[in-house]
Amino acid sequence: MKAQKQIALVAHDRKKAELVGWVEANEAVLAKHLLWSTGTTGARIREACPGLTLTALRSGPLGGDQQLGARIAEGGIDILVFFTDPLSPMPHDVDVKALTRLATLYNVACATNRAAADFLIASPYFDAPYEAPTGGGDGEPGT
Ligand code: PGA
Repeated sequence: MKAQKQIALVAHDRKKAELVGWVEANEAVLAKHLLWSTGTTGARIREACPGLTLTALRSGPLGGDQQLGARIAEGGIDILVFFTDPLSPMPHDVDVKALTRLATLYNVACATNRAAADFLIASPYFDAPYEAPTGGGDGEPGT
């Protein structure tokens, strides 16, 4: 991973305000990276932080999670911050699972809640190049 990261930002509806708050609190750091988002999450972030450059894909239930998954498979996402809602059933649950599965497979640094996102952004690797140590895996990508 290069110093400048490709970062995907996604939140389920009941978690969007929390993610927007996290983005606002970390706007200066995030501005140095390349940001991707699902449609509705992206619109909320743009509203709150118009200075950030962000590419918004389709809304999650309409294929946005799959678009992000495809970017991960192509090596185009380094970090996924996805605030998931563990208390609501989702019509696109399979897409959410597919996205988090690919993030795990491709060794994408992943945060599904505020604490993990805070730990991630406080890491020295966030703004610096990072290479995952090789070996120890089963030959899957990123090991
Ligand atoms: P949204 O999609 O940003 O378009 O709401 C997120 C999701 O529910 O996966």
